[in-house]
Amino acid sequence: MKSLLAQGHLFSNSNAQLEKLNADGGEKFAHKLQAIGLNPLKPTGIDIFQMNMGKMCNQVCKHCHVDAGPDRKEIMTHETMQLCLDVLAQHPEIQVVDLTGGAPEMNPEFRWFVEEASTLGKHIIVRCNLTIILANKKYHDLPEFFAKHKIEVVSSLPHYTAGRTDRQRGDGVFEKSIKALQMLNEVGYGKEGTGLKLNLVYNPTGAMMPGPQGELESDYKKALLANFGIVFNSLYVITNMPISRFLDYLISSGNYDDYMQKLIEAFNPGAALGVMCRNTLSIGWDGYLYDCDFNQMLDIKVASKSQHLKDFDFASLMKRAIVVDQHCYGCTAGLGSSCGGQVV
Ligand code: SF4
Ligand code: SF4
Repeated sequence: MKSLLAQGHLFSNSNAQLEKLNADGGEKFAHKLQAIGLNPLKPTGIDIFQMNMGKMCNQVCKHCHVDAGPDRKEIMTHETMQLCLDVLAQHPEIQVVDLTGGAPEMNPEFRWFVEEASTLGKHIIVRCNLTIILANKKYHDLPEFFAKHKIEVVSSLPHYTAGRTDRQRGDGVFEKSIKALQMLNEVGYGKEGTGLKLNLVYNPTGAMMPGPQGELESDYKKALLANFGIVFNSLYVITNMPISRFLDYLISSGNYDDYMQKLIEAFNPGAALGVMCRNTLSIGWDGYLYDCDFNQMLDIKVASKSQHLKDFDFASLMKRAIVVDQHCYGCTAGLGSSCGGQVV
């Protein structure tokens, strides 16, 4: 399987995705916010700096909202990372650095950046796809490296059975993910008293909304411990966003209209209050600033005069209105969804 970009697919163009999302006449997300007094949506802080280290990935998952894969070459340069470090050093308010991709570890400057961000005293999260640890000898010591810097590891494991995980992420991914989780456990991840956090991410394998987080977490914990001796801290449940490869899947499988309708009907004002764009800023691989990772992939930059790390201005960013569109229903449906799991 290739990325949409390599296929020359229409949805490798973000405008084409936005046109589709706005074509069906469904109630506008901004109107929903208006009705509950939240329009324009404003930030509550910039607590989390979520950096996209690049779109390169060793996997090509079906639902990927980044359209990542081995054929993507975009990666964050040393110079852009230095701009991030400068901002982080000047702003103690930003306490968390959340590293995402693609596979962030494939960026040759990944370890250098982590070491520098650690010396600034930031809490670092890595969104590790697990299989990268086994993909090449040079990544085999990642668990030790993560542990040394007390990095919090967040890893997607679409299901605790091989069939459902491989269907979404590719053949053999489940087996490699299990091995990687065991390697993380061996250095202390997920174990009481180590302070080394290992959180897993569940997202549905089809055009449905996820069930309650608590129940799934206990199913995962029981199954992974009984079958593979694996322990972890928390399970984050994330709703699939109707963008990029998942949007393509929804349309080609004939599920698009139903799925959007479900998301719109499940709009939850409580979840809207806690959407992650209110306290997170997303940084593109090329240094541009976005309200969230989803807006980044749709190329919707922040509505502020500060649109790039080179013009970073905390005060103006705090005054901006967050840019919303129809994909935002993915964050506010049911119990809500963010990079940290359910919102309410
Ligand atoms: S591992 Fe993550 S970034 Fe890579 S293709 Fe899968 S969903 Fe996308
Ligand atoms: S998609 Fe982004 S901008 Fe829209 S509600 Fe979710 S986090 Fe906020």
